[in-house]
Amino acid sequence: MAFLEINNVNKRFGQFVAVEDFNLKVERGEFVSFLGPSGCGKTTTLRMVAGFEMPTEGEILISGADVTHKPPNQRNVGMVFQSYALFPNMTVADNIGFGLKVARKGKDEIAKVVDEMLALIHMESFRQRYPYQMSGGQQQRVALARALAIHPQVLLLDEPLSALDAKIRVELRTEIRAIQQKLGITTIYVTHDQEEALSLSDRIVVMKDGHIEQVGSPFQIYNFPETPFVASFVGTLNVVDAVVRDPQSGALTVDGQEIQTAQPLSVSAGQTVRIAVRPEMLRMTANSGSGGTNELSGTVDTVTFLGSIVRVQVRLEKSKLFFDMFNNPHLVPPQVGEKLTVYFPREACLVV
Ligand code: ATP
Repeated sequence: MAFLEINNVNKRFGQFVAVEDFNLKVERGEFVSFLGPSGCGKTTTLRMVAGFEMPTEGEILISGADVTHKPPNQRNVGMVFQSYALFPNMTVADNIGFGLKVARKGKDEIAKVVDEMLALIHMESFRQRYPYQMSGGQQQRVALARALAIHPQVLLLDEPLSALDAKIRVELRTEIRAIQQKLGITTIYVTHDQEEALSLSDRIVVMKDGHIEQVGSPFQIYNFPETPFVASFVGTLNVVDAVVRDPQSGALTVDGQEIQTAQPLSVSAGQTVRIAVRPEMLRMTANSGSGGTNELSGTVDTVTFLGSIVRVQVRLEKSKLFFDMFNNPHLVPPQVGEKLTVYFPREACLVV
């Protein structure tokens, strides 16, 4: 039995189905992210694990105990919200110790745990500050410490970094992962940010319209998406129409130019399929206009400098493809309007 189990859970608000047939087993110490667009049911699912919402159907088990209909304070879960939700009139120490005080722990025990938590988030010198005297990132670290102070069985984080600026977001996500691993605490993390989910998680649950599209490691989700939605939601993806030439050998044409895929195709010759490829899998070749197999010739439409990479868009006859070049100070990127040829490795081709 897994440490946290969400079995056949449905949640309806009136006629509206917010979460449908949700099944997930999370192992002890695992970090699992719920990733999906706004409104896909991530927060509702998390709130059912926390006890703020009750499932319409199904059950939730934590450490073997059925908590489906238990209130939040009887589940021993810690929760961190996007909005920090610290008590404004309490110091950092009082905020962190709040849950223990409610649980009627002794003064000495509370002081000891508060010290441990302050050390964990590296904020020992902030003990007597009030929330208004701290930055957003500092407040969110205190909110994390407050959630952890009760030694919860499960840590639930609902878009905890969304309100912070980009640099702090990256810093804090590294810190969250380090703390989670140090404590070995089972964690569910809700986000709509694919980079956050990919960098933090042991496994990602990709959701759409209330249901699970795919569950897998970041590597699996990115490289082996099982549905067109996962393929397009996670990472940048080129999707173009291709006409099947020889299904047995996996030969296709894109705007009349030949592509050989790595696998046979299960559709007949002459049919149109959609193929997908990540920009980083394509590369520019020196053989401009050679027209060889898996070489697509076109004209540069846009060149975008993104820092570590330069993303180039090439127009074929009808289709457009992005490919990436690693930045370096000596790089001479192609110019808009230039003709060039892109190599499309056969194993990079996904049929979606
Ligand atoms: P976001 O990233 O925007 O927070 P989400 O994936 O977390 O989105 P949820 O907040 O879980 O989405 O909402 C899922 C759906 O359920 C939405 O369409 C939302 O409008 C609806 N919903 C959520 N709570 C309620 C409620 N109390 N009453 C009615 N509908 C609700």
